[in-house]
Amino acid sequence: MGFGHQIALTFDDGPDLATTPSILDILHSYNIKATFFVVGARAEQHPDLIKRIVSEGHTLGNHTYYHRDLTKLTPEQVLEELWDTQAAIDQALGSHFQVTLFRPPCAASYDIEPARLPSLQEALREQKMYRVMWTVDSNDWALRDQPESIVTNLAQSTPEGGGVILFHDTQPQTVEALPKILEDYRASGFKFNSVRGLLDQKYGIEPDGIQADPNDAYAEATLPLKASGNNVPEDLHSLAECLTYSGSTS
Ligand SMILES: [Zn+2]
Repeated sequence: MGFGHQIALTFDDGPDLATTPSILDILHSYNIKATFFVVGARAEQHPDLIKRIVSEGHTLGNHTYYHRDLTKLTPEQVLEELWDTQAAIDQALGSHFQVTLFRPPCAASYDIEPARLPSLQEALREQKMYRVMWTVDSNDWALRDQPESIVTNLAQSTPEGGGVILFHDTQPQTVEALPKILEDYRASGFKFNSVRGLLDQKYGIEPDGIQADPNDAYAEATLPLKASGNNVPEDLHSLAECLTYSGSTS
C-alpha cells in the first residue's frame, strides 16, 4: 500500500517532560508537523506541553487515559478512557478541543480481531473518532541507547511508498535518532504530511471535516485499512509498547 512517497510521523505515550520538548524542538527546526497520541493522565500532568503541541501546529490524538489494554475493560470503562483523556486535553487548553484521532494502546489485536471489540467500535462511532494505526514501527522503545539502530531499522523497513511511522516521544533514544531519520527521509525524496492530510488524500475527507462529522466516511476511514504486517499479534514489539507507561511517573 502506497502513500504517494509520503511520511506521516506519529508519537505515542507522551507528553513527557524529559523528552517531548526536544522532539518538538527538532520538528520545529525541520518545519515538520506530527501527530501526538497522548496519554490522558500525562496530559493532565503536563498541560503546558499539550498547549505547546497544539500551538506549534501538530495534531493531538487520544491514546486513552491510563494506557490500558481496552480488550480487558468493560464498555463503560472504554468510554471513560476516551472521555477522561478528552477532558484532560480540554482542561490543559482551557477550552473544548475535539480530538478525533484515536490510537489504542497494545494495538495489535484490534486489527486482527475487531469483532472482539464491538464496544470500542461503537464508542469510536459515538465519539466521532477515527482509529489510526501505523504501517512502519520504528521499534524505538526497545532500542534504548541505540539511536543508530532506530535509524537503520527505519531505513530498511520504510517502503518506497512511505507510510505512517510509529515513534514514542517518551524515549531519549528517539530524540537522538530523530534528526538523522528526518534527514534520511528527505534525502530519499519523501515528503512529510500529517495523518489528517493522508486521511484527506486517501478518503477525500477534508481535515476540517474530520473534526465536524466523520460518520459517513467512518467505515472506510480507518487509516491504514491494512497495515504492512508490522502489527500482527505475534509482533511483541507492538504489544510490549504497553509496558512503557508505568502509570505514576512523569
Ligand atoms: Zn502506547
